[in-house]
Amino acid sequence: MDHFNYQGGELCAEDVPVAEIAAAVGTPFYCYSTATLTRHFRLFDEALAGMDHLVCYAMKAASNQAILRTLAALGAGMDVVSGGEYARARAAGVPGERIVFSGVGKTRDEMRMALTGGIRQFNVESEPEMTALNAVALELGVKAPITIRVNPDVDAKTHAKIATGKSENKFGIPISRAREVYAEAAAMPGLEVIGIDVHIGSQLTELEPFRQAYEKVAELTETLRAEGHDIRRLDLGGGLGIPYTRSNDAPPLPTDYGRLIKETLGHLGCEIEIEPGRLVVGNAGILVSGVIYVKSGEGRDFLILDAAMNDLIRPAMYDAHHDIVPVVEPAPGVEQVPYDVVGPVCESGDTFAKGRMMPPVKDGDLVAFRSAGAYGAVMSSEYNTRPLIPEVLVHGREFAVIRARPTFDEIINRDTIPEWL
Ligand SMILES: *Cc1c(COP(=O)(O)O)cnc(C)c1O
Repeated sequence: MDHFNYQGGELCAEDVPVAEIAAAVGTPFYCYSTATLTRHFRLFDEALAGMDHLVCYAMKAASNQAILRTLAALGAGMDVVSGGEYARARAAGVPGERIVFSGVGKTRDEMRMALTGGIRQFNVESEPEMTALNAVALELGVKAPITIRVNPDVDAKTHAKIATGKSENKFGIPISRAREVYAEAAAMPGLEVIGIDVHIGSQLTELEPFRQAYEKVAELTETLRAEGHDIRRLDLGGGLGIPYTRSNDAPPLPTDYGRLIKETLGHLGCEIEIEPGRLVVGNAGILVSGVIYVKSGEGRDFLILDAAMNDLIRPAMYDAHHDIVPVVEPAPGVEQVPYDVVGPVCESGDTFAKGRMMPPVKDGDLVAFRSAGAYGAVMSSEYNTRPLIPEVLVHGREFAVIRARPTFDEIINRDTIPEWL
């Protein structure tokens, strides 16, 4: 569910006409809804009611300061995967004890930064990382709280580029080696082992892979406890999928997911952490674009937009589908026509959709990509020297630019010229 609906014949973000925002900030731009963000965060929080829990938003999905502040005010913790994200979370007012540090390649500098600034726990992904973290902690005279990410070898049944829980993936340690690795960790004086971490992938549309993974985690918890480890926190990762079209089957709801967690892990008395990203912000954002030209080709018409692959890379990178809708509500029963929807970038991969059936549109019209809030703005680049596009946050009848479009001079002046030129 989201708050981008037609009202009085035009697409609105909550109570603000999208065309009004477009007139103020120019296209293309990302637009987020506070009400949707809030609703989705609360769904997760309520799904875990009755268990000691913390929802740590996976901020790599969308990390604008205004989004982080909105979620932090609701009680969210943050899951970070880099020093930059750690700095962003702290800048948004999130205390260290609500920040979890994930990622396969944490550097010693990042470890130092988090240990000095405050951290809830590190989700450690390998033995070399464990050794490095132990050394950094000892050097600082502290103990680093850790979980170890185990790879449960389950098939998440999602796109290969976002599956992370099979044995061939780079993430975590094989669950079959967990006892050995936990014993090594327990012997390191700079580490305090507090729990287990698992994250099997993104955009999961079934509960079954989660069930398989969490059952393995439950079993491992008992095994490790029997060996003397005080396993008291389980970090269950993120990954619950969202509906990318309004026509297909909806993925499971956070409520069902919460029930599954209680069923598989509730008896252990552990504190539960989850790290949803996509489901919190995915349907809370749209990408609004202008139509530059409608170009007739051989056997096909191209819709050339002012948004491109550098602004939203998901279709090029994951063959992702986004519904694309006109900002002016189409007349009921209007006949749909096929378009190849493309951007202006000089790559054939700059194609958002092929043969997409849409109501007819013309030069100068506005269209909106739905479900573009997650892995949208954060994955954008300035390829073709196209400025990073603005982000706008709507709140009821108000909207604010939460990241402005840079000028060409700002982009150019980031480069520096060596003295010999
Ligand atoms: C990406 C990621 C998440 C969030 O995944 P979503 O599919 O966006 O919910 C959570 N935890 C870890 C470790 C991740 O890498």
